Amino acid sequence: METAGKVIKCKAAVAWEAGKPLSIEEVEVAPPQAMEVRVKILYTSLCHTDVYFWEAKTPVFPRIFGHEAGGIIESVGEGVTDVAPGDHVLPVFTGECKECPHCKSAESNMCDLLRINTDRGVMIGDGKSRFSINGKPIYHFVGTSTFSEYTVMHVGCVAKINPEAPLDKVCILSCGISTGLGATINVAKPPKGSTVAIFGLGAVGLAAAEGARIAGASRIIGVDLNPSRFEEARKFGCTEFVNPKDHNKPVQQVLAEMTNGGVDRSVECTGNINAMIQAFECVHDGWGVAVLVGVPHKDAEFKTHPMNFLNERTLKGTFFGNYKPRTDLPNVVELYMKKELEVEKFITHSVPFAEINKAFDLMAKGEGIRCIIRMEN
Ligand code: NAD
Ligand code: ZN
Repeated sequence: METAGKVIKCKAAVAWEAGKPLSIEEVEVAPPQAMEVRVKILYTSLCHTDVYFWEAKTPVFPRIFGHEAGGIIESVGEGVTDVAPGDHVLPVFTGECKECPHCKSAESNMCDLLRINTDRGVMIGDGKSRFSINGKPIYHFVGTSTFSEYTVMHVGCVAKINPEAPLDKVCILSCGISTGLGATINVAKPPKGSTVAIFGLGAVGLAAAEGARIAGASRIIGVDLNPSRFEEARKFGCTEFVNPKDHNKPVQQVLAEMTNGGVDRSVECTGNINAMIQAFECVHDGWGVAVLVGVPHKDAEFKTHPMNFLNERTLKGTFFGNYKPRTDLPNVVELYMKKELEVEKFITHSVPFAEINKAFDLMAKGEGIRCIIRMEN
């Protein structure tokens, strides 16, 4: 490409200060350095983590947020061999270096080199930002910064996918949806015909329910304090619902009574510590498995009686649905291409890049599931 090796001037949505609306600015994007790629972002979407760090008064401002997206490689830096200009990619907030003990373990996806780091606003290679305005650096976010027409990423944080896959749909597989889906499919592993409880029916929980549907669970019980989530959740395979507020006994007991002793699997997608404990205690003794996905409050403590473990219940936790980004995400995209995974139903809104702040408003109001931000039109 004729832009390779040169600075690109393009539009980016810059967060100058915590909690202030983003402003579309012309930024300069430096060429990718060793083991980096420059990506033309075509579609991006908003996830809670962006909003959380945009609101938080961290020292890392001005900053370009965004981590759920789809794009095309524009150019590559020295040493990059496994992707090339023109490849379709999904950026990922956590990476896969393929060389560290985690990457070499078949069981882990928590890469030592490229694991999520929300405090870092610069590239790993040289400790500098690739974005600037009039020579002043604008910081990166989780190594992705997809609220920009062009962004620079470490090659270990991009998953090369099938070029036939529509980027305006599969872009949402780069974070929240894969997290929930993988929590069920890779970690809870519900046997066909089993009963699964999903705690929290936000984007992640609905994706966990979709995973249970794909795995062939016969009963999928959605648990949420907000009953307005229930109707929508039917589209994701939920067959029954429990609102803990409707009962004057513990939700563990409500679920045990509904299921002859407990559910076979549960997946917690709330971030609430009580829901985490409930999700564990509601699984059947002898074989039940509970999986925690939600990110808890920093002071939270998990308390349960050890007999719950001795009675052969298993508790697990997962990060990004246990998917290794580069190795496994292309297969998640294929699951969509084979029409096993339904992605369209997660996409409830779409706005042009100039109206990106509308996506923040929708999320603040808790409206819809995913809003696609179109970079080009
Ligand atoms: P969301 O806010 O859209 O949905 C959470 C849902 O949980 C809401 O519908 C809420 O009403 C419900 N809820 C809250 N407390 C509850 C309780 N005590 N009992 C039952 N329902 C309750 O959030 P989301 O975007 O779907 O994300 C869910 C969680 O997953 C968050 O904590 C997020 O930080 C986490 N997350 C984890 C990973 C990971 O890799 N482990 C990745 C992405 C997101
Ligand atoms: Zn690694």
